[in-house]
Amino acid sequence: MKKLYFIPGSQDLYGEECLKQVAADCSKMVKFFNKKLGDTISFELLPTVETSDICVDDMKKVMCDDDCVGVVTWMHTFSPAKMWIKGLQMLRKPLLHLHTQANEKLPYDEIDMDFMNLNQAAHGDREYGYILARLNIPHQVVAGYYEHKDVLDEIRQFAQVAKAIDLSKHMRVATFGNNMRDVAVTDGNRLESEIKYGWEIKYWGIGEIVDLVDKVTAKELNAKMAEYKKKYTMATDNIDAVKEQAKYEIAFEKFMSQNRCYAFTDNFQDLHGMKQLPGMAAQDLMAEGIGFGPEGDYKIAAFSAVLMKMAEGRKGATGFIEDYTYDLTPGKELELASHMLEVPASFADAKPEIQVHPLGIGGKDDPARLVFDSVTGDGIQVTMIDMGDHFRIICADIELVREPKPMPKLPVAQIMYRHKPNFKIGTAAWCYAGGAHHSVVSTALTRNDIAMFAKLTGTELITIGDDTTEADLQKFFTPKF
Ligand code: MN
Repeated sequence: MKKLYFIPGSQDLYGEECLKQVAADCSKMVKFFNKKLGDTISFELLPTVETSDICVDDMKKVMCDDDCVGVVTWMHTFSPAKMWIKGLQMLRKPLLHLHTQANEKLPYDEIDMDFMNLNQAAHGDREYGYILARLNIPHQVVAGYYEHKDVLDEIRQFAQVAKAIDLSKHMRVATFGNNMRDVAVTDGNRLESEIKYGWEIKYWGIGEIVDLVDKVTAKELNAKMAEYKKKYTMATDNIDAVKEQAKYEIAFEKFMSQNRCYAFTDNFQDLHGMKQLPGMAAQDLMAEGIGFGPEGDYKIAAFSAVLMKMAEGRKGATGFIEDYTYDLTPGKELELASHMLEVPASFADAKPEIQVHPLGIGGKDDPARLVFDSVTGDGIQVTMIDMGDHFRIICADIELVREPKPMPKLPVAQIMYRHKPNFKIGTAAWCYAGGAHHSVVSTALTRNDIAMFAKLTGTELITIGDDTTEADLQKFFTPKF
């Protein structure tokens, strides 16, 4: 179980009794959080910061503990913020500033100087807020009484984003082959991606997978086929084509675990030695939280794995999607998003069918794929692009809908969705912002989750939704003269 360290702030000015009470209140708070949020994250109390040395010791512990994904700080009393400078300078993990109190209400009849000196978050948290701003340390502020539901929800959200950032820091992407020739948006500064997000982008030839495919044993193959038959409906007689995909999946799984990769890319221009495009294999792997990017798109491979981690434990689907084609009927505009094949099986709203059909691109054998209709409901579409001197995240609110009519001649998995606030503004905004044709769609995550990730990683964020107006389009793209 991953954890958050809870570090309170105080000082010795108010006496030993006061510090004992601070520790007791924090202990109670941490116990409460473990009870309420223990299914997502665990909390552990560190010594109250009363001096710069204690702060440094606490932060050393935070930084050396691999299970720790972030820190929650709260100034119970007044903790002079110079004591936090050296500790905070060491902190390289997500930080939540919890602006709360041990008491919900003011005891108007009883309050005296002792009570006020003990319970002065309004005083101490503002001193602390100043030093965070002064040191330019990315952080999330959550304000309110700690037992209130909205506060607990926000702490849970922070924990999920922190776990996603932790995966990001450990992210290793296996890129098989390079980017698809001539495509711009799938490219990016791999070095900067590692510096900023921790993503190790590692190249291997697809021959590594071909070798492993050749070595798949009958036992391994039978086990994978049994798994497919359990999860999916076999709607083809071409079992050999399905077995081929099963071998690909076994090979990818083996390679990824041997090389500790959480995401991978391939490129249909570089599949030497493979009989099919790895469609179904990628669909099934994505449903298990493995990031995937087609056409060598390392950014979306890593980003999709990070966002799937963020969505863990929530209802809804999250995964890679590619924009394709529109229905432009006035007032009823829809987008059909899919990929050649690789739509994550997690989007299925019913048991997917395994089908085998020609692909019409790539010049390979007919690939097996999972075919299904998608879940519906409110969601987001989010992508990351490289602007040359910085990365930009674009997040659009969308509504996933059922396709108005069946598409019997398009046997692939797909989703359909409506743009917000409408087609004209929503898609223009996406284009102005430089949005990619590769993105992550999620019915589990919200704009707020993405905003927190962007804030904590120091990434530019552009949002599009019902609050976007025609006048806003100007701000998404202003040429520099
Ligand atoms: Mn593409």
